[in-house]
Amino acid sequence: MKINCLSCGFKVDLDDTYDDFEGPIKCICGALLEIRTDEGALKFIKLVPPLHTKSKRTEGGATP
Ligand SMILES: [Zn+2]
Repeated sequence: MKINCLSCGFKVDLDDTYDDFEGPIKCICGALLEIRTDEGALKFIKLVPPLHTKSKRTEGGATP
Protein backbone atom coordinates (compact mmCIF):
# COMPACT_ATOMS: atom_id res chain seq x y z
CA MET A 1 0.00 0.00 0.00
CA LYS A 2 1.22 3.47 -0.78
CA ILE A 3 0.36 6.54 1.23
CA ASN A 4 0.61 9.95 -0.34
CA CYS A 5 2.51 12.28 1.93
CA LEU A 6 0.48 15.37 2.62
CA SER A 7 3.59 17.43 3.03
CA CYS A 8 5.72 16.62 -0.01
CA GLY A 9 3.55 14.34 -2.14
CA PHE A 10 5.93 11.40 -1.92
CA LYS A 11 4.30 8.00 -2.05
CA VAL A 12 5.36 6.28 1.12
CA ASP A 13 5.53 2.55 0.53
CA LEU A 14 4.07 0.51 3.36
CA ASP A 15 4.19 -3.24 3.61
CA ASP A 16 1.43 -5.63 4.66
CA THR A 17 2.09 -4.84 8.28
CA TYR A 18 0.25 -1.59 7.72
CA ASP A 19 -2.87 -3.10 6.18
CA ASP A 20 -4.57 -2.81 9.53
CA PHE A 21 -2.77 -0.06 11.32
CA GLU A 22 -3.42 3.01 13.34
CA GLY A 23 -0.69 5.42 14.25
CA PRO A 24 2.01 7.62 12.89
CA ILE A 25 4.24 6.89 9.95
CA LYS A 26 7.19 8.92 8.83
CA CYS A 27 7.88 10.13 5.33
CA ILE A 28 11.34 10.55 3.85
CA CYS A 29 10.84 14.29 4.06
CA GLY A 30 10.55 14.03 7.82
CA ALA A 31 6.84 14.71 7.96
CA LEU A 32 4.80 12.67 10.38
CA LEU A 33 1.54 11.33 9.04
CA GLU A 34 -1.09 9.89 11.30
CA ILE A 35 -2.95 7.19 9.45
CA ARG A 36 -5.59 4.60 10.02
CA THR A 37 -5.98 1.68 7.67
CA ASP A 38 -8.43 -1.16 7.59
CA GLU A 39 -8.00 -4.27 5.43
CA GLY A 40 -5.50 -2.54 3.25
CA ALA A 41 -7.57 0.57 2.70
CA LEU A 42 -6.72 4.00 3.95
CA LYS A 43 -9.45 5.30 6.22
CA PHE A 44 -7.85 8.35 7.72
CA ILE A 45 -4.80 10.47 7.18
CA LYS A 46 -3.62 13.58 8.92
CA LEU A 47 -0.43 15.54 8.87
CA VAL A 48 1.03 15.71 12.33
CA PRO A 49 2.88 18.91 13.13
CA PRO A 50 6.37 18.37 14.50
CA LEU A 51 6.44 18.02 18.27
CA HIS A 52 9.59 19.97 18.79
CA THR A 53 8.59 23.29 17.35
CA LYS A 54 10.92 25.42 19.33
CA SER A 55 11.12 28.76 17.71
CA LYS A 56 14.48 29.43 16.21
CA ARG A 57 16.49 32.00 18.02
CA THR A 58 17.51 34.83 15.84
CA GLU A 59 21.20 34.97 16.33
CA GLY A 60 23.56 37.81 15.66
CA GLY A 61 21.10 40.58 16.19
CA ALA A 62 21.04 40.82 19.96
CA THR A 63 22.91 43.55 21.70
CA PRO A 64 23.76 42.91 25.38
ZN1 LIG B 1 6.85 13.74 2.69
